[in-house]
Amino acid sequence: MEHFDAIVIGGGPAGLMAAGRAAEMGERVLLVEKNHSLGEKLLLAGKRRFSMTNAEPDMELFLSRYGENGRFLRDAFGCFGPAETVAFFNRNGIKTKVERGSRVFPEEGHKKTGAERIFDCLLLYCKKGNVRILRKSPVKAMKTKNGRIERVITGIEELSADRYILATGGKSYPKTGSTGDGYRFAAQAGHTIVEPTPAIVAARAHNGLCSFDNAVVTKGGVSLKEVESTTLRSKFCDNLYFAGEILDLNGPAGGFNLQICWSTGYVAGQSVARVN
Ligand SMILES: Cc1cc2nc3c(=O)[nH]c(=O)nc-3n(C[C@H](O)[C@H](O)[C@H](O)COP(=O)(O)OP(=O)(O)OC[C@H]3O[C@@H](n4cnc5c(N)ncnc54)[C@H](O)[C@@H]3O)c2cc1C
Repeated sequence: MEHFDAIVIGGGPAGLMAAGRAAEMGERVLLVEKNHSLGEKLLLAGKRRFSMTNAEPDMELFLSRYGENGRFLRDAFGCFGPAETVAFFNRNGIKTKVERGSRVFPEEGHKKTGAERIFDCLLLYCKKGNVRILRKSPVKAMKTKNGRIERVITGIEELSADRYILATGGKSYPKTGSTGDGYRFAAQAGHTIVEPTPAIVAARAHNGLCSFDNAVVTKGGVSLKEVESTTLRSKFCDNLYFAGEILDLNGPAGGFNLQICWSTGYVAGQSVARVN
């Protein structure tokens, strides 16, 4: 069984950012994704106009858009917040523009959609750091021993690392791969899962059924009380970290949800590397 410094489970925006950052910090990283292709939800989101973050300059106001749980993001935003996110993508060739409601969009006028270019940029970030990517490898279980994750089991093989980042998303749009598997793994590691419910439902669905099939994001997830806000590390399992929508964090439309992924992904990736 090959051993890595860090294994990131889930290849959405949070997992890609986490893997890229950990690798940039010198870690030997494996990214494990259940689908044939990575970032399906990001690419689906990009079929319509999507905002990658928000340029609201007042940090208190920004955090308040996430409700009470927004306080948890203060540390991650202090390390890699909306301004650092825009700078990161600008540095990597994606020009941005700010529109109504301070929504930040990738500049148009390219053959590829903004989401495709963001995705390419994240993939390149991972490639530069030699992140190994395993596709079509759904993690079925995480095995713990003495309060630590020992290995993960996919449909095909067993994989081990010193540290693990769970970035499996929530339950919305399950056809993109986000079926809530990570909640089960987190619960097995001792975490409380705040009941997941669908949030931000597409306009056409308002008259119909409000379900995970048509919800943009998931409300609920891994309880923030059990995660360190400065490192995204589990308070129960000292080699387990979380990033993205799996956490009990969600915001309104307008770039607030992807910002959760950029900030928590970056900080979780950096934190796994800093343990060394
Ligand atoms: C239609 C739509 C439009 C949206 N528009 C916007 C927008 O304009 N602005 C904005 O900020 N946000 C938007 N969002 C929300 C945004 O896309 C999500 O917040 C974001 O994708 C969450 O990222 P994540 O990496 O946490 O999880 P996900 O993107 O859900 O990625 C999780 C990954 O983990 C993988 N995975 C799951 N279980 C396993 C397993 N057992 N083993 C291995 N891999 C696994 C999944 O296949 C998936 O690739 C939109 C969402 C939708 C659906």
